Amino acid sequence: MYPFTDIKKESIASLGESGLIRALRRWLGKSSPRTPFGIGDDCAVLPTQTGRGLLTVDPVIYGEHFDDTVSPRSAGAKLFKRNLSDIAAMGGTPRAAVVALAFERRVKIEWLSEFYRGLAENSRNYNVPLVGGDVAQLPTGIVATLTLFGESTGRRILTRVGAKPGDAIYVTGTLGGSRRRHHWSFSPRLHEGAWLAQQNEVRSMMDVSDGLAKDIHALVPAKACPALIAEWIPVSRDALHASRTSGRPALAHALSDGEDYELLFTLAKSASASSFESRWRQAFPRLKLSKVGQIVSSSAFQKESNRFVDLNTYRGFEHLVESKSPVARSRSAPTAKKSQAGKKA
Ligand SMILES: [Mg+2]
Repeated sequence: MYPFTDIKKESIASLGESGLIRALRRWLGKSSPRTPFGIGDDCAVLPTQTGRGLLTVDPVIYGEHFDDTVSPRSAGAKLFKRNLSDIAAMGGTPRAAVVALAFERRVKIEWLSEFYRGLAENSRNYNVPLVGGDVAQLPTGIVATLTLFGESTGRRILTRVGAKPGDAIYVTGTLGGSRRRHHWSFSPRLHEGAWLAQQNEVRSMMDVSDGLAKDIHALVPAKACPALIAEWIPVSRDALHASRTSGRPALAHALSDGEDYELLFTLAKSASASSFESRWRQAFPRLKLSKVGQIVSSSAFQKESNRFVDLNTYRGFEHLVESKSPVARSRSAPTAKKSQAGKKA
């Protein structure tokens, strides 16, 4: 069967990202257990004898997640770290990885060796051996996919489920403008994630990959809304920088750019925020922690909605719907610099 179509309503683009995930779940039927053991969280959870296993997989695709402005070493590092970030998002620790590569025959040996050095460097830094993989040929492009196995660090793993109305919403670090450099230069928040999983008052967690404005919805239970306060959002310097050239507010960049790889979590209403925050500062004096809002009931949100960030105006990165990732957008931007790679001998 010819797999492609130009008729929109027959294509997967018409499903949108969440529609596609629902369809995949339907097609898998009983083969797909409920979250956290199946689809729907940062990692799948595997029941093991010693603790709990975590399994995650994420690719980097040429033109989508990296381009000629990113060194092959950084592209390899990004592949490793975006998977580490998903393990961090559950409060786990990484154990071993396999990598599957698909590319066309024209790929430079020099490019591939540098890409592998990027993988190796991170494998050493994070003490995660690369234990296997696969190589296949593609008619065009480069797709590198890493599968990462991890384990819980303590009694508890944190999933996206568990927040209740009244809980506070927190985010680590600063947000926005990732396409400038952060999308490949970030540090996955493994220590922070493991620490947060040990704090009983933390109820749910994920990492920010598609932008706060989109990702926050995954933590919000039914009949509730995320009440975010604009002034509390930690806007990065790169978001301010991006705002100067885009003409959009820095806040819009912070909410929608994506690829922040920070941790987003909820703190139980009953917890003492000041005690929690001071323990955080003791554990991680150099990493900013911001309370950005609260989970509120839908009815409470309606009453005071003008106080909160209107998430209909700020959308995060939609896979399938928007065809361009932050990297792809920067490639097509008129200010994008032409690659010098082709000029090399
Ligand atoms: Mg994630």
